[in-house]
Amino acid sequence: MRLNIVCIPGDGIGPEIVSEAKKVLNRVAEKFGHEMVFTDILMGGASIDVHGVPLTDEAIATAKAADAVLMGSIGGDTNTSPWYQLPPEKRPEAGLLKIRKALNLFANLRPAVLYEELAAACPLKEEISAAGFDILIMRELTGGLYFGERKTVEENGVRKAIDTLTYDENEIRRIAIKGFDIARKRKKKLTSVDKANVLDSSRLWRAVVNEVAKEYPDVKVEHMLVDNCAMQLVKDPAQFDVVLTENMFGDILSDEASMVTGSIGMLASASLNDTKFGLYEPSHGSAPDIAGKDLANPIATILSASMMLRYSFDLDQEADAIDAAVKKVLQDGYRTGDIMSEGCKKVGCKEMGGLITERI
Ligand code: NAD
Repeated sequence: MRLNIVCIPGDGIGPEIVSEAKKVLNRVAEKFGHEMVFTDILMGGASIDVHGVPLTDEAIATAKAADAVLMGSIGGDTNTSPWYQLPPEKRPEAGLLKIRKALNLFANLRPAVLYEELAAACPLKEEISAAGFDILIMRELTGGLYFGERKTVEENGVRKAIDTLTYDENEIRRIAIKGFDIARKRKKKLTSVDKANVLDSSRLWRAVVNEVAKEYPDVKVEHMLVDNCAMQLVKDPAQFDVVLTENMFGDILSDEASMVTGSIGMLASASLNDTKFGLYEPSHGSAPDIAGKDLANPIATILSASMMLRYSFDLDQEADAIDAAVKKVLQDGYRTGDIMSEGCKKVGCKEMGGLITERI
């Protein structure tokens, strides 16, 4: 298979971690007989320095023509970098918002996986973390409260702010279909999270999810109120497989789920549109404090590359090979500084990428 992949190394540790992910992908291509063509584009501070804007139209066109996009991270030190003296629409993060919009990325996937080898970093009680967990939070990214009409008015001398939460059935259906398709690739369980005891938008959400569920009799579906879900994530995270939810609930729950793993350098993410196209990136930022020092953990980016193979190319065997190589490296006791623990062997970004590559 020929895979046309656009890479966005970005800023800070971005170029270092993307370089290791490419190394791993090249090994996968060699082993499984694929051709991977990589094209780099500039985004964020790197693009501001060259073009004066965080993302050019040419870069968007290149990304649109690709089969998938793999990103490192963008942004600098928000206190000291000159990029943050610019108006908000010219700062590095504006590039990310622009590309998400241009590519119509409406489904955000954030896995939260607790590796047995890193269980000590999990802030939950041992009897809970011992069971391990592998959750995929799927968040609707382009609708709901964050995109509804908003205004602040003054009535009789009292300031009043109004935000609106709108979803139509098509927006719900397209992400529900994605959620069920992905649950089919995993443990075939989908928990749809809403606040249907209060909100009309949640009642519609629940109704549409139930309609879509009829097409997926092999996937077990359950509904959970968002307040209960927030509790269950710390009480019994092992019960979850795919958690499907709207924009704001997903924003909060995905951060909660990632915190309970305790290891930010390990967490991948994906944003998908309604074709197989997706943008894949680690959940963490550009870590300017450790940039250029060979200290970054490349695993979140390598696991993002694995998600890319699984969700954009349906190359499940190849993705499994990457996931297994990451697990093996941890079992063999290698750690970057952020996940270091006693008795393990500390390695840098490049060596970690090399060790994973060797295990494919
Ligand atoms: P950050 O995630 O970059 O860093 C937080 C802490 O975690 C730092 O101490 C950092 O050294 C460490 N860390 C993060 N990733 C690591 C890795 N792979 N290996 C080892 N240690 C790692 O968050 P921040 O400091 O709040 O943000 C820095 C910059 O990143 C800002 O400009 C911010 O806007 C940007 N950012 C970008 C994205 C993105 O590109 N999608 C996401 C979040 C933040």
